[in-house]
Amino acid sequence: MPELPEVETVRRTLKTLVLGKMITDVHVYWSNCVITQDFEKKIIGQWIHDILRYGKYLVFVLDHHVMISHLRMEGKYYLHQKRLPSNHEHVVFDLNTQESLTYHDTRKFGKFELIDKNIYLDVPPLSLLGKEPKDTDPLTLYKRLKQKTIPVKMALLDQHLIAGLGNIYVDETLFRAGIHPEKKCHRLTKKDVNHIIYHAINVLSYATELGGSTIRTYHATHGVDGKFQNELKVHTKKDIPCEICHTPIIKIKVGGRGTYVCPTCQKK
Ligand SMILES: [Zn+2]
Repeated sequence: MPELPEVETVRRTLKTLVLGKMITDVHVYWSNCVITQDFEKKIIGQWIHDILRYGKYLVFVLDHHVMISHLRMEGKYYLHQKRLPSNHEHVVFDLNTQESLTYHDTRKFGKFELIDKNIYLDVPPLSLLGKEPKDTDPLTLYKRLKQKTIPVKMALLDQHLIAGLGNIYVDETLFRAGIHPEKKCHRLTKKDVNHIIYHAINVLSYATELGGSTIRTYHATHGVDGKFQNELKVHTKKDIPCEICHTPIIKIKVGGRGTYVCPTCQKK
């Protein structure tokens, strides 16, 4: 699943491909992925001025609207000079350059929404989004976590609380911070929360620099593979010795999510 570094990689790649181009036509082949009524009618004729990112949302800045795109599990964009039909192509944007920007999604969970350009930060989904680790005040997060009794991993996956961390980077952050993913939020100290934010910022910025992680089948965009999978210390490392203490990494479930832990370095 794309997380902040992968979505940022998609954003940077897409900016080089579609900025300053106009959407001349749109074809929606899987209508459930489009939330907005009259999506086609509204978007045709608008130019793509910028592409922003909030948490894991891509925001295409158009003339009158923003188009918010969430890749969810498997969403991918491709730019084609000449489009060939594909089974997993759900939305196709024809551009004034005779190219087509196609959206593929084998899992069909991705979503598109058009929102008025003047209000998009004040309405859901973006108004509900927490701050990214780099913009998070540690004391504010500590106070919010103090009121929760859920495992810290589940809290860090909650995009309303803190934005941009998913399964991979939460595991990596908690390992680096020496905190067990099942540790209950209200038992975290201020020092723990400081460590979490510090390592989350580092992990996300280093992963972004390396173009994200390419694991299983996820590729950010056509031909762009991340390199951060080579830097993973626990995620996907079951039975491999921890690089600090040499205890084999274990895989457990936390809130239903596969979670990788060093049982020695990460204390509950
Ligand atoms: Zn260890």
